[in-house]
Amino acid sequence: MSDKSYVSLEQRLCLVCGAAFETGAILLDQRLRASLERHTTTGWGLCADDQKRFDDGFVALVECDPRRSGSMAGATRVKPEHAYRTGRLAHLRRTVFTQLFHVPIEDVQACVFVEPGVIDRLESMAAPAVDG
Ligand SMILES: [Zn+2]
Repeated sequence: MSDKSYVSLEQRLCLVCGAAFETGAILLDQRLRASLERHTTTGWGLCADDQKRFDDGFVALVECDPRRSGSMAGATRVKPEHAYRTGRLAHLRRTVFTQLFHVPIEDVQACVFVEPGVIDRLESMAAPAVDG
């Protein structure tokens, strides 16, 4: 028995935490054929929690294992689909991020992939702006 249907719930993967979340959109097969899985992942986005942090002016540091993430050359350039998340996250105010790393960050950028050790270092600095 097929569990396919002509309707599918659109979902995206959160860039920051990697969780799948529903966008609230429904996808329909053009010809109403039962061709669709229950959920269809259409791309990347931000889940409600991470969207809120982004709106509050935070950038998420997402720790990735470089050996499993492909090239880490230029930490911000890891493709999300190649990033192997270790599960560690930190949130920094964008202004703090710019001061610490001396790199500009675009307003639209919600997260930065970092190598293991970066978050440890931040925590050992005990910067009061580190949240999470
Ligand atoms: Zn998320």
